[in-house]
Amino acid sequence: MGLSGLEIYKKLPQTNCGECDVPTCLAFAMKLAAGQAELAKCPHVSDEAKAELAESSALPIKGIKIGSGDDEVKIGEETVLFRHEKRFENPTAIAVVLSDDDSDFDKKLDEILGISIDRIGLTLSVDAIAVKATDNSKFAAAVEKVAAKSGKGIVLVSEDPAAIEAAISQAANKNPIIASATAGNWEKMAEIAKANNATLIVKGKNLDEAAELSEKISGAGAENLIIDSGARDLATALADQTNTRRLALKKKFRPLGFPTAVMANEMATDAVEQSAIASTFVAKYGGLAFLEGVKPAHIYPLLVERMNIYTDPQRPMMVDEGVYEINDPGPDSPILVTTNFSLTYFIVASEIEASRVGVHLAVHNSEGLSVLTAWAAGKFVSENIAPFLQKSGIFEKTNHKKLIIPGYVAQMSGEIEAELSDIKVQVGPREAGDLPKFLKAWNPAKDEVTA
Ligand code: SF4
Repeated sequence: MGLSGLEIYKKLPQTNCGECDVPTCLAFAMKLAAGQAELAKCPHVSDEAKAELAESSALPIKGIKIGSGDDEVKIGEETVLFRHEKRFENPTAIAVVLSDDDSDFDKKLDEILGISIDRIGLTLSVDAIAVKATDNSKFAAAVEKVAAKSGKGIVLVSEDPAAIEAAISQAANKNPIIASATAGNWEKMAEIAKANNATLIVKGKNLDEAAELSEKISGAGAENLIIDSGARDLATALADQTNTRRLALKKKFRPLGFPTAVMANEMATDAVEQSAIASTFVAKYGGLAFLEGVKPAHIYPLLVERMNIYTDPQRPMMVDEGVYEINDPGPDSPILVTTNFSLTYFIVASEIEASRVGVHLAVHNSEGLSVLTAWAAGKFVSENIAPFLQKSGIFEKTNHKKLIIPGYVAQMSGEIEAELSDIKVQVGPREAGDLPKFLKAWNPAKDEVTA
């Protein structure tokens, strides 16, 4: 068992300086004891205390790096069971399995590596390629190809240590992952993992065996592990994932204090079904999910779901307040105003881009709320929009004095005109999808817009 909060507190500097982003040393000690903070956040802790607190201050679920360079991602380091308690930290990594004897290997590899979706300012993509071994020389060549094409993670899939040894040097410096160590091969696999700085997926016949193996493998010096309970039916797999997270967080049970694997590819053959299974474990504790025989269309919804689950529920996604020039606007271009909720901004901006009409888009800081919510909360009302627009200098950019507001807040038009006496307010469409038609029909010389 780890130390209690009070025992940890006694070893901290007790100056309450707040540099760890927690107001007092005692509060920080409590967080450390609960596995919700890292000791490294306190810059003043002595080396002696660091050594004493190493065990208690280790995060309950170890962080594991996947891939390298700009493509490197991390899984694990989770500190809560439920997203609303704080947030989920490191998104479930998605790995697509390709077999080394696939005659379309190159084409499929390019297709998977080419998945890149821009969504509300983020780029969503697959995190790893898992290469399944059928023949040692083909295996090494396939791993080499993946390593040469990107920094994405590489999973070497074989339970034969000889196959892994034949190919692993091709993935050197890429944080490779070996799938998997079992009761029958763990000693050799642990040796290979240690020698190559690789992560090892520990596969048990059930969760108990996975925990036993994890303990043995850690004892043998391989420190970077991913837990696979071996369950291939949805109900057992979900129970195992939940128990693993609970035991790691609530009991600090070290053998299960690692991210988990989700073998969706071994739970279903149908690509849609695999994607649905993986989506369950994006929400419930999966660290690295495997899919096989899938097309980009099966992966897109998973990536979007993952983005939503792993956003911080305490911090709305926002863009910076300011004036955004879209489609190279000039003095006769319309002026629009909206809120800084990321989803609102990117939907509005993409519809403006699609219209090909130049627009001066004023984005007001509504604390990340959408138009109607911000209006109802008093964050997107004439009293704060008017001073923002005046200060932004947006009306000096045009020959006209017209402002288009979102259709959902049409009732504000009179109030804004009262605040900005020389400005004529026009009401735009309620839905962003109607903007292109509206913008094409807009004329700076006319007060009405007939779209
Ligand atoms: Fe205490 Fe260290 Fe946090 Fe300062 S940074 S309040 S010394 S725990």
